[in-house]
Amino acid sequence: MFKKILIANRGEIALRILRACKELGIATVAVHSTADADAMHVRLADESVCIGPPPARESYLNIPSLLAACEITGADAVHPGYGFLAENARFAEILADHNIHFIGPKAEHIRIMGDKIEAKKTAQSLGIPVVPGSDGGITSDDEAHRVAEEIGFPVLVKAAAGGGGRGMKVAMTREDLSHALSTARTEALAAFGDDAVYLEKYLSTPRHIEVQVLGDGRGHAIHLGERDCSLQRRHQKVWEEAPSPVITPEQRTQIGETCAKAMQDLQYLGVGTIEFLYENGRFYFIEMNTRIQVEHPVTEMVTGIDLINEQIRVAAGEALTLQQSDVVIEGHAIECRVNAEHPATFRPSPGRITHYHVPGGLGIRVDSNAYQGYVIPPTYDSLVGKLIVHGKTRDECLRRLRRALDEFVVDGIDTTLPLFRTLVRTRDIAEGRYDIHWLEHFLNEGE
Ligand code: ADP
Repeated sequence: MFKKILIANRGEIALRILRACKELGIATVAVHSTADADAMHVRLADESVCIGPPPARESYLNIPSLLAACEITGADAVHPGYGFLAENARFAEILADHNIHFIGPKAEHIRIMGDKIEAKKTAQSLGIPVVPGSDGGITSDDEAHRVAEEIGFPVLVKAAAGGGGRGMKVAMTREDLSHALSTARTEALAAFGDDAVYLEKYLSTPRHIEVQVLGDGRGHAIHLGERDCSLQRRHQKVWEEAPSPVITPEQRTQIGETCAKAMQDLQYLGVGTIEFLYENGRFYFIEMNTRIQVEHPVTEMVTGIDLINEQIRVAAGEALTLQQSDVVIEGHAIECRVNAEHPATFRPSPGRITHYHVPGGLGIRVDSNAYQGYVIPPTYDSLVGKLIVHGKTRDECLRRLRRALDEFVVDGIDTTLPLFRTLVRTRDIAEGRYDIHWLEHFLNEGE
């Protein structure tokens, strides 16, 4: 097992990783920018190293600084968390060159899944159902028109290097297609330095359902059920739950086994998420994330399995002790991502938290690096913390979430807590009736 893990991240996920390390008896190194000197994960770590000024490219994305921090502290492994360098294959390789373990998948798998065209081809070859579309990249307008006629309008033009919903354009009709192609290419080139695009059937009212997987890198892999992340604003997840209110146990077993089998064949190492759109009872692969995800706690709450503990153990070369039959989904869990943003305009609201009180009681979990007097810096994402609630049934979970949200106090800054207090009392949500557009419609109606 590793002796000392350097946590190459900040915020709630840095704290989450630190907790897993402590329980495993592994020493921890926190790294931080000058903006994060007072962060909770820095206070609680065994050692800490300042790696640069506030801008992420000079600190959390600064590979030479991170290597130096490993060298100084003698860390033998790096946990990248999510975001920053978590899906950077080059970083994983550089660490390996320095005899430092990267706590994540093999570099080749990070690379394949980071290119959406490659990812889709790979998924398809592994027997995972994909969205109908072009066979790889689109090289000309003529080809795009041919494929679009074949799959039928509306179609979606997507960037191979895409992320965060960027480089994606819908063409409702034949007339829109050339324009969608050129704007998607321009946007992708500007955002990712790569203008490769591909074409997909545009699904009109899908849900976003993703399957959690875990593998030991030697052909043993399992799935841990699904998460429903359909409540999104601008392609950003806002509320996530497990299990999905619309998936039957038979569907879970079927799509879960398909994913687990694919990961066995790939000899996938570590945790991963296979994302699908789900419409009319069918699953369509959109991408795979090769990291721990923000919403992983809902899966932990319904399975009782500590995903980061498992992730660290398989990265250290331990065999996966869990069998598929050990994974039992119990009850229901919901996560709300509480952001430092105005609840209606979503304007970022960094600043000092003057009062802070977290809800408690049975089935409540708060993953947050905030505390009374903490100043949320303007430089990074606006996540204040995640409220995760577990109940025996979805109904109990919703009732518990209602009272937990009412207990949660974060003063001094704007947060999205009032939005969640409204959502949890909304009929469509209570009944589980929502697709990926529901939240945007709901927010627009309120204007
Ligand atoms: P990104 O990496 O940019 O987040 P994804 O492929 O994960 O890109 O897609 C992000 C979101 O875009 C999805 O959650 C969904 O809301 C929408 N989307 C992607 N593909 C399709 C599709 N074929 N039809 C309809 N919506 C889609």
